[in-house]
Amino acid sequence: MRFAVLGSGSRGNATLIECDGTRVLLDCGFPLREVERRLAEIDAHPRDLSAIVVTHEHGDHVSGVARLAQRHGLTVWASPGTWNALCRGSARHAYWPELPRPRLFPSHAPGLCIGALTLRPIPVPHDAREPCQFVFEGDGRRLGVLTDAGTVTPRMCDALRECDALMLETNHDPDMLRRGPYPPSVQRRVGGAFGHLSNTQAAELLDRVHHAGLRQVLLSHLSRQNNRPELALAAVRSVVSDLDVAVADQERGSGWRPV
Ligand SMILES: [Zn+2]
Ligand SMILES: [Zn+2]
Repeated sequence: MRFAVLGSGSRGNATLIECDGTRVLLDCGFPLREVERRLAEIDAHPRDLSAIVVTHEHGDHVSGVARLAQRHGLTVWASPGTWNALCRGSARHAYWPELPRPRLFPSHAPGLCIGALTLRPIPVPHDAREPCQFVFEGDGRRLGVLTDAGTVTPRMCDALRECDALMLETNHDPDMLRRGPYPPSVQRRVGGAFGHLSNTQAAELLDRVHHAGLRQVLLSHLSRQNNRPELALAAVRSVVSDLDVAVADQERGSGWRPV
């Protein structure tokens, strides 16, 4: 199994996970031409995608999903709450209601199979209708992906405990958020129980799920205004010193990384 972040942050998210010829795109918050360009940079093409899986309805994760799916005839997987929000609710996006029937899965489902990959949804506290994150299993390997969560939950820790690799949200440094440019209401949303994980929260989570088999952690969804890569790296390295830790970039992504 291997994965590549095409970009991560509030200006767009997309991650490609590949195993034995199955290629799943997790979220797509980039315009059609832009995601095609980013896929080409890692020698991938939309026609080779097995499916697009959506974590939740926020624009930085879904703004490019429907166009990409329509253009290349791709199946979209989403939780019922996410789908309803996108087709009918306040997060309604153009093109979504015109998509053919999606594959719906409850965020509490034990697992869904897409080709050679099994996806295990993790329900997360985040201010969306039915948001979830995932553990991807394939080839005897496990990749845990956790972005867009306001709180660390016991269920989350259980799900992420036996992964070989983790992609983990380090959205903000709490001091930078407090002193930064966001108005108080937005600060409360980002730092609240249904917002985003701080560097400190991510480090605490990692401390709880770290085990001998965990080889790498890719930090993601960093805020441009309220964080810096060196602060996120320092927070995580303060609890683990024996790991390959890197940061996924908003513009350049991560390139392919073996799990
Ligand atoms: Zn997001
Ligand atoms: Zn979100």
